[in-house]
Amino acid sequence: MDCVACGSAAVTERPERTARDYRRFRCRECGGGYNERSGGLLNHTQYPSEVIALVALWRLRYRLTLRDLAEMFRLRGIAQATRRSATGKRSSHRC
Ligand SMILES: [Zn+2]
Repeated sequence: MDCVACGSAAVTERPERTARDYRRFRCRECGGGYNERSGGLLNHTQYPSEVIALVALWRLRYRLTLRDLAEMFRLRGIAQATRRSATGKRSSHRC
């Protein structure tokens, strides 16, 4: 995987992984560190790439509502993000 900062192919994979088990790399040109998710569309998302892919697939393929998907993932033990509105009431996070 080329460096996301300088594009160099002179990179070394590091033995340790991120907290979410993504592979880590170190660029030998610029010294920057990054992981296999860096520089992509999903880099700063809250959920693992696999979960996001499943939500997109099931939503499009089976026409499930976001409420259905949230319930399915809650049953599987993947916590649903919640936020508090200005009134202090707890509300569901909309994807
Ligand atoms: Zn680099």
